[in-house]
Amino acid sequence: MDTRGLLFGKGEKRSTEKAGAKRHERDAISTVRAHVAARDGRCRLAGVASMGACSGPPEWAHISEHKRTRTMKQDPSRLHAAAITAMLCRDGHHYAHDKGSG
Ligand SMILES: [Zn+2]
Repeated sequence: MDTRGLLFGKGEKRSTEKAGAKRHERDAISTVRAHVAARDGRCRLAGVASMGACSGPPEWAHISEHKRTRTMKQDPSRLHAAAITAMLCRDGHHYAHDKGSG
């Protein structure tokens, strides 16, 4: 029985609500990620001599204090913003970034 129009209606099922939130996050991710990939190319640090050579395929990276482990449960639109993410090569600069400022 659909009770949503009633005074004490039940609203959406919890699972439906959660699925909507997940979908929202996925959409936010793919939009920002495409933007960052277009901005940075294969690796944001490619060609920066002091940073060493690139290695491995490109990966989307969250930078320093915005690493995923530090931002769990935050609003996806803040969490995945272009300003705090970059494309980095997986085995070179992303690996070094994760090791360096863990
Ligand atoms: Zn690189």
